[in-house]
Amino acid sequence: MQKLYKKPIIYTAVLAAVALCAWQTKKFSDMPNDPIYLNIDNSVSPGADFFKYANGTWLKKNPIPPAYSSWGIGNEVTEEIRERLKKINENALTANAPKGSTTQKIGDFYYSGLDSAGIEKAGISPLTDQLNLIDQAKNAQDILNAAAILTTTGTRNIIGMRVGQDDKNSEKMMVQLGQTGLGLPNRDYYFKTDGRTTRVRTDYTDKYLPTMLALSGWDEAKSAAGAKGAYNIEKFLADSSRKLENLRDPYKNYNKMTVAGLNKLTPDINWTGLFKTLQFTAVDTVIVGQPEFYRAVNTALKTFSVDDWKAYLRLKLIGSYAPYLNNAVAEESFRFGGKVLRGQKEQLPRWKRVLDTENGIMGELLGQLFVKEYFSEKSKARYVAEVEAIREEYREHIMKLDWMSAETKQKAIVKLNAIHPKVGYPDEWKDFSALVISRASYAGNVMSARRWGYLVNINKLGKPVNHKEWGMTPQTYNASYSPSNNEITLPAAQLLIPGIKDDDVDDAMAYGYVAASVIGHEITHGFDDEGRLFDAKGNLKTWWTPQDSLKFNDRAKVLADQFSGYVVLDSLHINGKATLGENIADLGGIVLGIDAFKKTKQYKEGKLINGFTPMQRFFLGYALSWLGHERDEALANQVLTDVHAPGFLRVNGPFSDVPEFYEAFHIKKGDKMWLDPDKRVRIW
Ligand SMILES: [Zn+2]
Repeated sequence: MQKLYKKPIIYTAVLAAVALCAWQTKKFSDMPNDPIYLNIDNSVSPGADFFKYANGTWLKKNPIPPAYSSWGIGNEVTEEIRERLKKINENALTANAPKGSTTQKIGDFYYSGLDSAGIEKAGISPLTDQLNLIDQAKNAQDILNAAAILTTTGTRNIIGMRVGQDDKNSEKMMVQLGQTGLGLPNRDYYFKTDGRTTRVRTDYTDKYLPTMLALSGWDEAKSAAGAKGAYNIEKFLADSSRKLENLRDPYKNYNKMTVAGLNKLTPDINWTGLFKTLQFTAVDTVIVGQPEFYRAVNTALKTFSVDDWKAYLRLKLIGSYAPYLNNAVAEESFRFGGKVLRGQKEQLPRWKRVLDTENGIMGELLGQLFVKEYFSEKSKARYVAEVEAIREEYREHIMKLDWMSAETKQKAIVKLNAIHPKVGYPDEWKDFSALVISRASYAGNVMSARRWGYLVNINKLGKPVNHKEWGMTPQTYNASYSPSNNEITLPAAQLLIPGIKDDDVDDAMAYGYVAASVIGHEITHGFDDEGRLFDAKGNLKTWWTPQDSLKFNDRAKVLADQFSGYVVLDSLHINGKATLGENIADLGGIVLGIDAFKKTKQYKEGKLINGFTPMQRFFLGYALSWLGHERDEALANQVLTDVHAPGFLRVNGPFSDVPEFYEAFHIKKGDKMWLDPDKRVRIW
């Protein structure tokens, strides 16, 4: 249940650029490397568009490179890390390390990915066994069997299965089934009729699907018919898939049932047999997220022909391995997934793509080497202390709330005190000893790694929860809150500001960039509209009085409505309900960050740095964490599929709710950033 934290985006709306002389007289002498000073655009007033004011110069100087769909601070971090990992990989290539060692696995994986001649020669042959299995299917039972086998090597299809913590008993691992199996990014793409979505859909049905089938070895007529059949299956499943906002209610997406109950829900699927094929020894109870989806799968197995299903599974298989296959297949996958869906102009160079894949598969092997060199104990201690400063601030805020009863407050404090922080990197690293990697085949290595990852996951069933395990690598530019573990994970890459040494970062910048934007944000997830439903032990269990729940929901609704009012692109509005949890977390992070920062020496001394007061630098540091812009295609995709609002709104939206922001930048009625005091939201 991780919550993806960030993804930089552009502000496309054109706002009046009002120059304010007061913002142009800053001196650049106190801190020469100061990104805050360097990024400011003095042609925009902070009251007109704070995001552009704070980041405008950087945005102008840093257009989105052709191989990217977005470009921002996250990319700067990622690029720096890629260069570092490249060196590690190049050394491993020539190390002649013993078989089974970390260095052998890293070096051989990198070799197989760079071996474009070998990849070209192999064509789609790494998929031969699985393609044969699909081809031999004679009935719905065979289709299900093939679908299960594909699942064990990471090809997503109609079986959306994983082993994870039981929402209502966080110490127990359970088999979980959720909706899945679409080829377009989510269900809305099958039904929306606006021009942008229609263009994407038409490309998918008329070009992408038939081309991929042809590349898999089918003739033109068979490919055309197969594309139609497979699309019809997807559309049927999409119709029974829940919308983004409806996936956020943990109660409605929790349906525990016995395997007998599951067999009753879907009478044409023999789950007992299927779980055997999925390599489980014993499953008695499962949690089904969306029962109506599996009812639809049951119907679809009877409704659509075996030939349609063969085309569907073939497309799923080749689609999931396309980036690791020969050029023609990889290019078509990029043309649709990169260009059409996200507006990328060209592919990343091969070495970067291979590194990204390697990072996804054995990221902790690379992460161990990464943190040794780049994340000091001193930095770790600094951000552990910021976690405690935010926690202390949250305690004070809860105690002062005028809308919450003493009874709920006391339980909120218990939950807050129990939040476990994971900072920088894991104390215990994953065991990769059973993972086999060789130089023979890139796609073969990916398949081997996916099978390994699948077994690692299903073997968690029946075992105690490993609370030391990390869901992210230290070199990931992201952070998360896990409701089941009541913990926050803050990878090293998310804490370091690119281009400046951590020692040179002043507290104002660090409190805006990390304490508010990352730590306060993630901790507040424990108390957003979804996270608040879980208790201190990570169980879905009511601990609020009904009265307090009502009061919380009233406040949250104002924030949802506020965000639904923001237009992002064309006629695309923010989905206020789908993004509510993230927006609550942003607002919470900011108000906690402000008050925690007020207790620092830097704030109390009030000294200007490069012409800015400490509080101004706090807000600018926060805006720096959202520095970036995104192509329209990617932005449209994000609004439909992501529970995060675009970056510019994650700055301008919550700042308009915060009184300190008005004071720090002298925002007046009539300014675009102005909200009347009675419209400003405050939850935490
Ligand atoms: Zn978040």
